Amino acid sequence: MLDYEDARALVFKNVIPLEKSLCPIAESQGLALSTDVLAPYGIPLFDNSAVDGYAVQAADLSDASMENPVRLKKLGYISAGDSGEERIVSGQCIQIATGAPLPRGADTTVMKEDIELEDSNVLFFQAIPKSENIRFYGEDIVEGQTVIPLGTVIGPAQLAVLATFGFAEVPVRRVPKISIVSTGNELVDVKQTLKNGQIRESNRYMLAGMVKQESCKIVKMSMVPDTPETLKNEFEEALQADVALISGGMSVGDKDFTKPLLIEMGVEQIFWKIKFKPGKPLFFGRRGKTLVFGLPGNPASSYVLFEEFVRPTLRKLMGRRIVEKGMVKAKLDDDILKTFKRLHFMRGQLYEKNGEKHVIPLDYQSSNSIGSLVEANALIRVEPNSPSIPKGCQVSVRPLQNEIG
Ligand code: AMP
Ligand code: MG
Repeated sequence: MLDYEDARALVFKNVIPLEKSLCPIAESQGLALSTDVLAPYGIPLFDNSAVDGYAVQAADLSDASMENPVRLKKLGYISAGDSGEERIVSGQCIQIATGAPLPRGADTTVMKEDIELEDSNVLFFQAIPKSENIRFYGEDIVEGQTVIPLGTVIGPAQLAVLATFGFAEVPVRRVPKISIVSTGNELVDVKQTLKNGQIRESNRYMLAGMVKQESCKIVKMSMVPDTPETLKNEFEEALQADVALISGGMSVGDKDFTKPLLIEMGVEQIFWKIKFKPGKPLFFGRRGKTLVFGLPGNPASSYVLFEEFVRPTLRKLMGRRIVEKGMVKAKLDDDILKTFKRLHFMRGQLYEKNGEKHVIPLDYQSSNSIGSLVEANALIRVEPNSPSIPKGCQVSVRPLQNEIG
């Protein structure tokens, strides 16, 4: 049986980022940039006004006061979108809109709220430092600068930069295709009525939700009984994806057909079973370029294994710079009395108090628990064969992608 670290290393060794492609900007959120984005020019594109007001020469206003306002001749109005060919000289000013190009000769803008109009003149009541209320060319983004490094996930801020630089198509790695097959005779669909011994199938929705958090495409999502022929057909379709997630039947029960069937179908086993809790029976293999995760049916096991193995795999396929949230240190709020021979990632609740991170280990840690998943936003790392951990100790915690607020 492999250690958690060795198993993760083996998985990540087998993950090669997918091909580069171009994606329409409106569909690119959640994907990762496949090149650095360099600024072909500076931003702002031209010197412009930061306020609605009057473009002036600051030197003209040096003696302005409430008692002795300075009068400047008003030339006209430059609105946003105008080409900004105007020019002013000393003694003149020109009305200007936010974002409009600064006219030649002007070096400062005075806010509209601070002036008074008098016929064709404008009255100014105070001096103003030169360059006030001006946004200069390149002061936000410098020409040639790497604005967004390769591998960054595209979110709203990145979209703003990409649109600004004219990326109608964004260079990314193509979206991974994911298939999800839940197996088990006891499973019924969410819409069905339950008979004795049956449970509603939930892993498909849970795993699909996690896959969607990573903006990957789900190409297949199905639920099948433990019947080898049916399983085989489903697995064959699932193996057409970049990543196949098979839930259930991974252990040693009489109806646990998943592993032998996958192997019969040409999936190379890279490992099966890890010294880890929850989720010992994890299977990882590949057929051609398709990566295959056999996840145990217990929902909490599947959930935790997805976090530790599948999510970073998806991110690596997408060429993400950061494939997972790093472990953080937090103060334990309750004793951890029960420890195991295997490394245990306990579900916990991470929060901050007085600037310090705390974590509450959740009471119910069974590998089939779904109640604890709802409350968990972190996993607490408890080393194998560790003595009990008293509250107040600093523990290593993995923050989860689960907003509990
Ligand atoms: P298995 O890994 O198939 O032995 O299943 C382990 C446990 O997880 C059993 O209690 C199953 O009923 C439960 N289980 C398996 N698959 C699912 C699923 N898709 N949704 C919810 N529970 C499941
Ligand atoms: Mg089963």
